[in-house]
Amino acid sequence: MLPESLNRLEEKFRIYRSKLYATDETPKLIAPRASSDFVVLKPQNTQEVAEILKFANEMKIPVFVRGGGTGLSGGAVPISSGIVLSTERLKEIKIDEKNRFADCGAGVTLYELEKAAERHGLSFPPHPGAETATVGGMIATNAGGMRALKYGTIRNYVLCCEVVLADGSILEVGSRTLKNSTGYSLLHLFIGSEGTLGVITKATLKLFPSMRGSVGVVAAFESLEEAAEKSLELTKLLPLSLELVEDRAVKIGEEVTGKRWPGEGKAYIFAIFEDFEDSEMASDVLRMDVYVATKKELKDLMSIRGSIYEGIKDKIIEILDVCVPPAEVPKYIKMSSQIARKYGVDVITYGHAGDGNIHQHPLIYDGWEKSYFNFRDEIFNVALSLGGVISGEHGIGTVKKEEFRRYYAKQYELMKKIKNLMDPNGILNPGKIF
Ligand SMILES: Cc1cc2nc3c(=O)[nH]c(=O)nc-3n(C[C@H](O)[C@H](O)[C@H](O)COP(=O)(O)OP(=O)(O)OC[C@H]3O[C@@H](n4cnc5c(N)ncnc54)[C@H](O)[C@@H]3O)c2cc1C
Repeated sequence: MLPESLNRLEEKFRIYRSKLYATDETPKLIAPRASSDFVVLKPQNTQEVAEILKFANEMKIPVFVRGGGTGLSGGAVPISSGIVLSTERLKEIKIDEKNRFADCGAGVTLYELEKAAERHGLSFPPHPGAETATVGGMIATNAGGMRALKYGTIRNYVLCCEVVLADGSILEVGSRTLKNSTGYSLLHLFIGSEGTLGVITKATLKLFPSMRGSVGVVAAFESLEEAAEKSLELTKLLPLSLELVEDRAVKIGEEVTGKRWPGEGKAYIFAIFEDFEDSEMASDVLRMDVYVATKKELKDLMSIRGSIYEGIKDKIIEILDVCVPPAEVPKYIKMSSQIARKYGVDVITYGHAGDGNIHQHPLIYDGWEKSYFNFRDEIFNVALSLGGVISGEHGIGTVKKEEFRRYYAKQYELMKKIKNLMDPNGILNPGKIF
């Protein structure tokens, strides 16, 4: 139960009790159950965040930081009595054109950031799929997305952050410079920390000049394995994005959007190039005919690809997020398909094949609780044996914390010591990662 002392906060902050803050986008079967005893606070600036954390630390009240709530690992779900600290009012954004930096409040969304950059003739290249994700949430999960193959993940764009620590003190990590070799990079400790080490309140992000263009190419194949094999060849051209999409996923996206995908196959490569010349070379590299989309068709393709999750999320147990070295993708697809067949698990696959990050969607089946986690263990072991990781972009949250402890024992122990040092009362997102 939340303590009576919470009333002290009520003198200063409006306290919300909306259940809308109880879930994120994690598929229901695997999502953690939210506590029924949480309140929501919406601070307007860093000082207010600091006051809330100071109070929570003194009272030992858990604080669950929430950005856009688009996370897929249960990270923002308040799993015990406590405070949900929403960053939705931390909305300042300033584009520094001369330096090509964006100075953002943590609650600025990906959409708002992209639009602001565009207004100044600039771009923010990474594109994790959900445009309502926030700057704070993307940093806290080290989000990736479709363009990571060419432009890297969020980590490559964060220059500095303002963070509020568990005791309410305010710290700046990193710098507004493009290079920095000044001691340990504490900045990178917060990137991917999933709300367990501090609350990110502001960040300076690197921007790029506008993209030269985008030309979409689709190639159809008889099997997912064949598409995976061929996708590897296309990485030579370094497309902006290189996706592998099973036909069943395409059909779901078509149903959601009412739009049509070109070609007939069991699986597709969907690549986007910045230059038309590269898109023309795709056919030579693949030694086959490819479909080159018009601008309007590319919009439709993006819309179909972007809507698959909406159509599939109530049918799946979870969204797997393994990442292997790119050259191992064909082997991973082959080996994991064999395991799925062995367990009788039907898996729909689509994802960022170009950078090795494959999203597999096991469909719900009767009695899944009995065999699913053994299946998943075998899949993870294959990924690890190929030099991969169990999460490429969605994070650990609650959904992979048991495996994280088992597979990464030594790192886990060191991370736990860091966590205890920075948050001795364990108030920041307890029950996540650890
Ligand atoms: C349709 C769809 C497509 C997606 N596609 C991609 C994709 O391509 N690539 C990808 O990487 N992800 C993808 N995601 C997942 C999701 O969008 C990312 O994980 C995103 O980075 C989460 O941002 P958020 O603001 O919604 O964070 P939330 O879900 O609110 O929180 C995520 C985690 O970050 C912590 N956090 C949030 N804000 C802060 C802060 N200010 N300070 C400290 N910790 C904080 C939370 O405590 C939690 O642990 C997708 C999700 C959906 C629904």
